[in-house]
Amino acid sequence: MAKYKLNDIVTLKKGHPCGENKWEILRTGVDIKVKCLGCDKQIWLTRIEFEKRLRKIQNEKGKFVSIVNYESEEPKAQE
Ligand SMILES: [Zn+2]
Repeated sequence: MAKYKLNDIVTLKKGHPCGENKWEILRTGVDIKVKCLGCDKQIWLTRIEFEKRLRKIQNEKGKFVSIVNYESEEPKAQE
């Protein structure tokens, strides 16, 4: 599963202690760096951990879509 990409805004299973649950993806790879949009704190998660926690992605219309229904606008080859 790799539907997310750099600069996507996502929600995770648990929000940040500051009360916000919107995160911007700053770095992808083996580890994923995300930034809390409530307080700008940046955290690293392993990709496995991130994908387990990932719940929704904001689409190009600004709507949060559940990861299971989300289709990236750039179609990828079958994995
Ligand atoms: Zn925060």
